[in-house]
This record gives sequence, structure tokens and C-alpha cells, in this order.
Amino acid sequence: MYECEICGKQTSVLNIIELEGAHIAVCERCATGKYVVDTIGDEKPARKKSVQSGSETEEDEIVSDYGNIIRKARESMNMPLKVLGEIINEKESTLFRVEKGKMLPDAKLTKKLEKELGIKLTAKATTVSNVKIGHSEPVTLGEAAIKKEKKQ
Ligand SMILES: [Zn+2]
Repeated sequence: MYECEICGKQTSVLNIIELEGAHIAVCERCATGKYVVDTIGDEKPARKKSVQSGSETEEDEIVSDYGNIIRKARESMNMPLKVLGEIINEKESTLFRVEKGKMLPDAKLTKKLEKELGIKLTAKATTVSNVKIGHSEPVTLGEAAIKKEKKQ
């Protein structure tokens, strides 16, 4: 059992939340509505990772027009920058710069924005590049045609 750092309640699952820049371990109830950084406990983890193909590439990249995405989502929710800042515990000026595209949000801020605004700011890094350089001609086309004609 663990002890909640806010209410002192004994709990089997601790939520690490971020509060005013500090990480504190609290019980489920005290974590409600807070930004949960991590969960510790013997029960099922609250966050399930969406591993798609088994490869462990967490190379998400911030999309290039993140500022517009954030601003549009925020405006559609009628949420002033100040209010958003209060909700996710960030400075209004920081968010302003991010929206203007003058500042890249760090991973933490990105997650908070995604969660709060219901948007996606990251994309898988595109690793699909031309591997074979100099081989632009498809090899199989001709072969396929021949096989097709070999009908009996
Ligand atoms: Zn508590």
C-alpha cells in the first residue's frame, strides 16, 4: 500500500500527478482532473500503450502546423488562451508562442494540449524513404505480363 501525499489515504494505486511543476504521488481521487504523469500500483495500468506493430518506435514528431491546430481547436471550444493555460498549468505567454509557431511544445506540453483539446499534434516520423537509390525501374511488371499471357 502507498500513502497519498495530499489526503494521506492508503491506496494500492498511486498516480503521479504534476502540480505546479512538481511531481507528487496521490490517490485516485486526488488525481481526478489532474495531469497524471504516471501510475504506480499492482492493478492494471491506467494507460495502455498503443503499440501497433511491435516495433518500439516512439519517434513521434510534432506536425509542422501545430500552432494552427491548437488555435483552431481552442477557438472552436471558445476557450481563451488564459483559460487553457490555467487548465493545463502553463503560462499564457508560452501557449501564445506555441500557437504562433514560435515555440515548439515539449513532449509534456504536447500531451497536455492533445488531451485537453482533443487534437493530435504528432505524427509518426516518416521513415519511408527511397531505399534503393538508382533503381527506379520496376522489375516485376514485365514478368507479370508474361505470366498472364502464358495461358493454356
Ligand atoms: Zn488522496
